[in-house]
Amino acid sequence: MGLDVNHKISKLAAGLYFVATPIGTARDITLRALDILASADVITAEDTRSMRKLMDIHGIALNGRPLLAYHDHNGEKVRPKVMQYLEEGKSVAYGSEAGTPMIADPGYHLAKQVADAGYLVTSAPGPVAFITALTLSGLPSDRILFEGFLPNTKSQRCSKLSELSEIPATLAFYESPKRIAATLKDAALTLGGERSAALARELTKKFEEVRRGTLNELLYSVTEHPPKGEIVLLIDRARSSLVNQDDIDDQIRSALDKMSLKDAADMISAATGQPRRTIYQRALAIDKNDDG
Ligand code: SAM
Repeated sequence: MGLDVNHKISKLAAGLYFVATPIGTARDITLRALDILASADVITAEDTRSMRKLMDIHGIALNGRPLLAYHDHNGEKVRPKVMQYLEEGKSVAYGSEAGTPMIADPGYHLAKQVADAGYLVTSAPGPVAFITALTLSGLPSDRILFEGFLPNTKSQRCSKLSELSEIPATLAFYESPKRIAATLKDAALTLGGERSAALARELTKKFEEVRRGTLNELLYSVTEHPPKGEIVLLIDRARSSLVNQDDIDDQIRSALDKMSLKDAADMISAATGQPRRTIYQRALAIDKNDDG
């Protein structure tokens, strides 16, 4: 039994209609998205069961309209069917399992093929998990770099993080509860443990929570209280202007007297919040210079 009857049914022009769906709370969907779901000739969805459920909640009947699965594993097979519907002058709605299509979700190849063929592509915008997290994080929102999921292996993850270390933007990642501790550990090592960050989980849901602190603090927090559910991790840009280079050089010299270059870089990066790569290269130069 539907709860809402806020949608209007009208004839839509032929084309592809992206529809953003909720990332938790079912009522986070726009009236226009509901109109599209009620009116499109064909509905396509990353997950047909969750689309059915969402439509039921909002009182939208399928009324015999086709409901097709479209995801990473069947895209090539389903795209020709979508093109056929468009050729017949039909309107096709597409929704992800959660949030906005194409944001760490399928839809790119579909949008491209439909646009290249000259058909209408339009979108009913709505929730995006990393944007929602950004608004709660207390981190700067002037520039944001969305990376989606980091690679699975430690070496690839560290190399990706060090590629991002100097970018003057808030960095946004999607993460799983199983991997969050390993990711925070690698981030602290690569970017420096003193960088500010925020972990936002279960956004718009009953157990919504935001933990704010340095990477080291967040690592401690997830080790003590492992988070459950869906997670966005946001990391502040490097704050190099706040650090005095002479002080860092002194710390490097004194560390190099006692430990290996690698350990010195790890320690000073964690202590100063400076990217590990920057410290390592500086230590290498100092080591060479002092030796020569
Ligand atoms: N298309 C979605 C969007 O617009 O944000 C993202 C889909 S991606 C496959 C799923 C990931 O997004 C989750 O693993 C999690 O990292 C993040 N996510 C989705 N919903 C979330 C929520 N309610 N709270 C926190 N993170 C969420």
